[in-house]
Amino acid sequence: MIKTDILIIGAGPTGLFTVFEAGLLKLRCHLIDALPQPGGQCSEIYPKKPIYDIPGFPEILAGDLTKNLLEQGKQFKPGFTLGERAETIEKQTDGSFIVTTNKGTQHHAPIVAIAGGLGSFEPRKPLIENIAYYEDRGVEYFIKDPEVYRDKKVVISGGGDSALDWSIFLADVASEVTLVHRRNEFRGALDSVEKVQELKLLGKINLVTPAEVTALHGNKKLDGVTITSGDEKILLEADHFIPLFGLSPKLGPIGDWGLEIEKNAIKVDTLDYQTNIPGVFAIGDVNTYEGKLKLILCGFHEATLMCQSAYKIINPGKKYVLKYTTVSGIDGFDGTRKEAPKAVVQAIN
Ligand SMILES: Cc1cc2nc3c(=O)[nH]c(=O)nc-3n(C[C@H](O)[C@H](O)[C@H](O)COP(=O)(O)OP(=O)(O)OC[C@H]3O[C@@H](n4cnc5c(N)ncnc54)[C@H](O)[C@@H]3O)c2cc1C
Repeated sequence: MIKTDILIIGAGPTGLFTVFEAGLLKLRCHLIDALPQPGGQCSEIYPKKPIYDIPGFPEILAGDLTKNLLEQGKQFKPGFTLGERAETIEKQTDGSFIVTTNKGTQHHAPIVAIAGGLGSFEPRKPLIENIAYYEDRGVEYFIKDPEVYRDKKVVISGGGDSALDWSIFLADVASEVTLVHRRNEFRGALDSVEKVQELKLLGKINLVTPAEVTALHGNKKLDGVTITSGDEKILLEADHFIPLFGLSPKLGPIGDWGLEIEKNAIKVDTLDYQTNIPGVFAIGDVNTYEGKLKLILCGFHEATLMCQSAYKIINPGKKYVLKYTTVSGIDGFDGTRKEAPKAVVQAIN
């Protein structure tokens, strides 16, 4: 059982900034995310796109914002459960909560902050009859650890950046990489398209277009796929099949937690973004209230106010006096201390 003060569901920018604000109040955080990496939409959808409306950053790449948020929160030693979806919540008699993921990992905390954005990103799966049987037996929709594919025969399908980038990366890891796409044209960064072209000419990527993987084979695990290209059917040996057709967000199991939902978002009050379940807050893109704007800076503001209320619930009767970080400095949970240089009292002769 993982124990923490604030359990954050969603490691997007809102969840990541919560770690920092909670840390200032000496509260520890643990984050759960269905994706294998933190950053939410910023790292999954547009890591290489510039954002122009983050205060203090005239321009910052979404991927760099994620890196900075992780760096800013690092001193408060957040825990992460990645690649798992928060599935159920159970209120305990003392008012705390146990949240269990789809893989059975249990988390216990007095406060739950749902920072689930548009919902958990679920992979778009190809319509192949027995695909569910081969999931985790050779079929994967995310690449968590590229080493799994070392010296293996890998078939990737898809026509976007993920399919291109992973084909390029795995060309040096796997024994054989085949990229299958239903069109001849790819929709991705120009340098990635050119790199795949170059690797194809070098014989390091086997490109099959226009084509689709239409059947999977193997007894206990995947050992081959059928690729259909027009009237032709190609039977290919494969240890792994990785369909990368993008992700679609779904509010998913959180929608069944007894929370008030309006238009696929969680209704909150505007005092501290608490939901209709005391102790459960919803911040960032996942919430709704009058005047709501789905912007990163709004998520940061909501996280800041939410942490103040979380502090009061965890420390009843204790008064918190707001201190400027420039004045108080920051004591990390890792023993580090950051502070502005102190003024000296010294006579000048
Ligand atoms: C192309 C694009 C451009 C954008 N440009 C801008 C911009 O210029 N400026 C701006 O302010 N905003 C921009 N946005 C919007 C901005 O990205 C969002 O407002 C922001 O990402 C919201 O952050 P969040 O942390 O609330 O949610 P998200 O970033 O959506 O993160 C939520 C996370 O929660 C996880 N999750 C959800 N449910 C579960 C569950 N049950 N279990 C486990 N994990 C779960 C998801 O996997 C996800 O990683 C843009 C968005 C897009 C798509």
